[in-house]
Amino acid sequence: MQVPPILHHNLKAMLQEIIEGNSITLPPSLVQLCPALPQLTANVFINPLKEDMKVWEPESSGQLSVKAAYGHLSSVRQATAWGGIIWNYAILPSKSILFWRLVFGKLSTDDNLQLGGLHMPSYCSLCTRDGETLQHLFFSCRYAEMCGPG
Ligand SMILES: [Zn+2]
Repeated sequence: MQVPPILHHNLKAMLQEIIEGNSITLPPSLVQLCPALPQLTANVFINPLKEDMKVWEPESSGQLSVKAAYGHLSSVRQATAWGGIIWNYAILPSKSILFWRLVFGKLSTDDNLQLGGLHMPSYCSLCTRDGETLQHLFFSCRYAEMCGPG
């Protein structure tokens, strides 16, 4: 059952506390916040003989494992021209993630850390000539230029 995210902070009871027999009895305060909930839960059948457990829906067994999570996440490809290139079995996952973080500006460079509120001096630890930014580290640092074509 998909509970609307707006209600998550109001969910203070365990599911077992609102199950009566084979159905769910919703607290009136929750129904007042989301009048559609009774309809959403009307077709939910509770099997009292089965123990409640967490289920990883993408896996037919319902069991979450690192292998299952990786398989699921790597199968959900982004609709980009380069997504199929970086999320590829021939590339180590750590390198794919590094590239993804680079593209989306999510690397922990000094400028990103400063944006997050960390106050610190910034300089490139390779050349010590400029601040540590993605642009500098990968494109304009004299050491990066040595790695590039040319
Ligand atoms: Zn540099």
